Amino acid sequence: MRIGVLASQGAFIEHLSALRRLKVEALPVRLAPQLNGLDGLIIPGGESTAIGKLMLSSDLTEEIKRLAQKGLPIFGTCAGMIVLSTRNSDQAIAPLGVMDIVVKRNAFGRQRESFETELSIPVLGEKPFPAVFIRAPLIEKTNGDVEILARLADGTAVAARQGELLVSAFHPELTDDLRFHQYFLDIVRRQVSL
Ligand code: GLN
Repeated sequence: MRIGVLASQGAFIEHLSALRRLKVEALPVRLAPQLNGLDGLIIPGGESTAIGKLMLSSDLTEEIKRLAQKGLPIFGTCAGMIVLSTRNSDQAIAPLGVMDIVVKRNAFGRQRESFETELSIPVLGEKPFPAVFIRAPLIEKTNGDVEILARLADGTAVAARQGELLVSAFHPELTDDLRFHQYFLDIVRRQVSL
């Protein structure tokens, strides 16, 4: 399996190393031709406005949209989740609109701008997942067949899946727990074997 990690800006090195620890071929993607032949793509956290602009200037926007519509598995973390959404609270970036979620950027107030918490994520098993939130967005609204995978104690939705698209408001690549990446690879594997 070959998984690309969008490497315009943000926490892409950590995603590449998580994938390599799981023994899959992981490639940084900066230009549209590098999307050829990938079985899956990760859009990392960082600054969604910067990622959006860099994607546009390197002709990645339309190509990623097309591949998502064709069923390429894509995992968006934090800013990556904003990029995949249909709408975000401040419209500072035009999202790809491929996943039926509306998100709110920088959704946690000052004191909780960055925090870490143990999350229950039933699809990953019983053991709680260490979730690192950094100026994170939240999922405000979902439509269609979006499945919420995790919520904070107050009910806020922070991870979801719709078909081959997976998102988390937090950063699984900043912990040693590889279960979220493994879950994404299971989605990719299923798609590859079809
Ligand atoms: N606050 C960033 C944004 O709105 C996301 C932060 C992150 O990816 N850690 O784009």
